[in-house]
Amino acid sequence: MTVELICVGTELLLGNIVNTNAAFLAEQCAALGLSCYYQTVVGDNRERLLQTVHTALSRSDIILLSGGLGPTKDDLTKETVAEALGLKLLEDKASREKIASYFQTRGKIPTENNWKQALVPEGGRAVENRNGTAPGIIMERDGKCIVLMPGPPEELKPMFMEEIAPYLRKLGGEVISSVTVKIVGIGESSAETKVADLMEKQDNPTLAPYAKTGEVHFRVTARAGTETEAAALNAPLVEELKKRFGSFVYTTDDAVTLEKAVADILRKRGLTMTTAESCTGGMLAARMVNVAGVSEVLKAGFVTYANEAKSSLLGVREETLRLFGAVSSRTAEEMAQGAARAAGADVAVAITGIAGPDGGTAKKPVGLVYISCYVCGKADTQEYHFAGSRMKIREYATVSALTQLRRMLVS
Ligand code: ATP
Ligand code: MG
Repeated sequence: MTVELICVGTELLLGNIVNTNAAFLAEQCAALGLSCYYQTVVGDNRERLLQTVHTALSRSDIILLSGGLGPTKDDLTKETVAEALGLKLLEDKASREKIASYFQTRGKIPTENNWKQALVPEGGRAVENRNGTAPGIIMERDGKCIVLMPGPPEELKPMFMEEIAPYLRKLGGEVISSVTVKIVGIGESSAETKVADLMEKQDNPTLAPYAKTGEVHFRVTARAGTETEAAALNAPLVEELKKRFGSFVYTTDDAVTLEKAVADILRKRGLTMTTAESCTGGMLAARMVNVAGVSEVLKAGFVTYANEAKSSLLGVREETLRLFGAVSSRTAEEMAQGAARAAGADVAVAITGIAGPDGGTAKKPVGLVYISCYVCGKADTQEYHFAGSRMKIREYATVSALTQLRRMLVS
């Protein structure tokens, strides 16, 4: 089935806000196996929205709209879609009660236009909004399905995940199931080259690559009559990917991030960890802290930006700094060893580099980063050259540190 997105809001057209709803919905639709061929942004304007809805109805099976469901005059999505479909607006009792209690619990009095949010186009279904007052709406007409969702992402996202996605999943009488094979330590283009033959002949299941900073994810998606059948269709392709990428695959579990995979290995082996960061300024420690319950493995994190801090906190020798510089393989190694000692940890990861945009030289250009991993007395230090903005270089350094540590732990 084909799906089309319409995001309503003059603020979006003017570039005052970024259309994150479109990115979110498009990604979710792909995960549901729906083909999204068009996305439109249209202002809060009745005529142009009418025209956009008519066009969408003529070429797509499912239309997802975001924004313009609020109580104010410029919020006209519901009225306009009802008009496009030739439907009357009727009051939904449950929605009206919900609005009344929303205001009552906040000790406020609703104004006349708040009740507008309880109107639902004839034959439509109101979808509860747990994070705001405007309910979403699902409509079906002439084999088409139209879904209206509120604009604020903190309302749209949970509504989509809890109510709309399960509904869309059931629509075609088919179940869509996907598995993501997450890979690190291999670049996007070489990863894709390795599976070019699989990409070419894909049908059911489909195979789609997603590049994240320093990672490549392959999503395998199958459609079938039941969840079990879809899973059975996915299994051989997932196994093939695992075989081709070997230990580069760190998980096939959606809930597992790279930092979680690393934390899990450390926990299983009863190892504790510490970080010593210069150019990443704590990003690595912050990634580790994303993992709930990481206190079991992460003992401490050092941000040692100045040379004196590298010496006084981590015991990096002044001679090392003088002879090789702060950005050097030797300094990275001494940072890691010193951090392990200072924190009393089994494992330490040190990062030192030149994030730019200034500070590079011919010998030590911007993007040069040394990462040292120290695991139970053994050190592995690598030199990297990253490109991009200061932020990008720091992000790449952080992912590479996790990747390098993981490689050392699994090999
Ligand atoms: P409200 O009841 O808050 O008015 P609404 O459904 O009418 O909700 P809009 O008025 O269109 O939604 O947008 C409200 C806010 O939601 C915007 O100011 C913006 O912050 C956010 N928003 C709207 N559309 C998008 C979008 N496509 N991507 C990201 N944020 C959005
Ligand atoms: Mg609004």
